[in-house]
Amino acid sequence: MPDLTDDELERYARHIVLPQLGGVGQRRLKAASVAIVGAGGIGSAAIPALAGAGIGRLAIVDDDVVERTNLQRQPIFRDDQTGRPKAALAADFVRGLNPHVEVSAIEQRLTADNAEALLTGHDLVLDGCDNFATRLVVGDTLTRLRIPLVSAAAVQFQAQVGLFRGWEADRPCYRCFVGDAFDTDDCDTCAEQGVLGALTATAGSFAALMAIRAIAGIGEDVAGSLFLFDGARLDWRKIRLPKDPACRTCSI
Ligand SMILES: [Zn+2]
Repeated sequence: MPDLTDDELERYARHIVLPQLGGVGQRRLKAASVAIVGAGGIGSAAIPALAGAGIGRLAIVDDDVVERTNLQRQPIFRDDQTGRPKAALAADFVRGLNPHVEVSAIEQRLTADNAEALLTGHDLVLDGCDNFATRLVVGDTLTRLRIPLVSAAAVQFQAQVGLFRGWEADRPCYRCFVGDAFDTDDCDTCAEQGVLGALTATAGSFAALMAIRAIAGIGEDVAGSLFLFDGARLDWRKIRLPKDPACRTCSI
């Protein structure tokens, strides 16, 4: 594992003092490579959290440009950046926050054709994209590649975040959870249903926490559990997702 420089020891001092993390956990974070799919509302919370935490390499996949309607929930972008590509701007944000992070901007839409090429080689992928079709492509690809997935979604006042390692015999994959109905539908767009900005931030921060604890080896392994947050009632729930024996992605 990589050593930490003097600057990094100072920068991560509040991490390193944590008994559950320590110098070993911090070096695990530095050694890790994480891809983030979507620099939207969830990405806007997850990207700063992962960059600030000292994940060694981040790849940000997004083919959108900043629109004024994004700014209510995407605070890594500024009002004067509308019309500019999100992936590049998010990468600039990371460089400004933490020069120790090696960050790449991938200004492409993730599809079934390029998913494997874009996601291969990462230690974990955090998916905060805005539609089920892409999420299923990400989930299927990662199950095949045996890369852990943290999937986060938020709409209106509801958020859900889960960790998936679907190639394991007793753990569900993302498709076990969602099923086959959404492969072609963008059925959950914020444009149609609305979403509270602070809710996407809650989901994105929670997803980053889940990624960090998985990489650093903190606490109980929650793969296969789904965390549901109701922002109107202010209530977290944790449910255990079953593996679908008929799942076309993970059942062998
Ligand atoms: Zn499955």
